[in-house]
Amino acid sequence: MTVTYSDLKINLGKLGLSKNLVIAHASLKAFGEIEGGPETMLNALLDSVRGVVMPTFTYKTMINPEIGPPKNGITYGAETDLNKMAEPFYPDMPADKMMGILPETLRKHPKAKRSSHPIQSFAGIHADAILNTQTIYNPLAPIGALADQDGWVLLLGVDHRVNTSIHYAEKLGGRLQFIRWAMLQDRIVECPGFPGDSEGFNDVELFVEKYTRRVHIGETLIRAVHLKSLINAVVDQLKENPFAFLCQRKDCERCTAVRWS
Ligand SMILES: [Zn+2]
Repeated sequence: MTVTYSDLKINLGKLGLSKNLVIAHASLKAFGEIEGGPETMLNALLDSVRGVVMPTFTYKTMINPEIGPPKNGITYGAETDLNKMAEPFYPDMPADKMMGILPETLRKHPKAKRSSHPIQSFAGIHADAILNTQTIYNPLAPIGALADQDGWVLLLGVDHRVNTSIHYAEKLGGRLQFIRWAMLQDRIVECPGFPGDSEGFNDVELFVEKYTRRVHIGETLIRAVHLKSLINAVVDQLKENPFAFLCQRKDCERCTAVRWS
């Protein structure tokens, strides 16, 4: 069964977000075949909300130095091969493939703007003021701005492990943040506020059930989560359990660093 624009539009419409800004995360593969491909999904989304932002992160700009500050969830000097392949950031650098194809489709849309953080940029349409809040010191500021404007998180065929907004809530909740380094054209820049690991984020489901709207397209689930409520739920949970939402992998450097912090 091929998914069409009207399948998407009708179901996204049921989420009731036509007057809201959203941050969207998507796996188009989860929907099977979409008539017209990612552009169809993007158009259905744009026609169902007031404005949209997506992460267009570029991890290939990252450099792992030989030495650096302690408790940073990293093994210094371990990725010399990756360092050799690192590329300096430029404004039109494509979003990483691991972000999925939709952020890159958004970034290339004629009406889209993109912020200039060398690792954690966002692209958006009708969301300039949101994008403009980002700084090198506060890479996830757009998520706070979105929450202040009654924004929502949209999870299209993906789960909370890709829900970047949970990282913003972790920071607000006082969780350890990391420093990473990125290549610009003429120098290497230190990027504070790099978040932890997201493998444990599906544990958030229980706490945001009340603030989640759901629709299905075929078998594929689309969830909308009220952003401010999500942030508050995560911060509250971190107060109760400082180890909440960490993953269970013993070799996870960032979760281990958080446990020891
Ligand atoms: Zn982990």
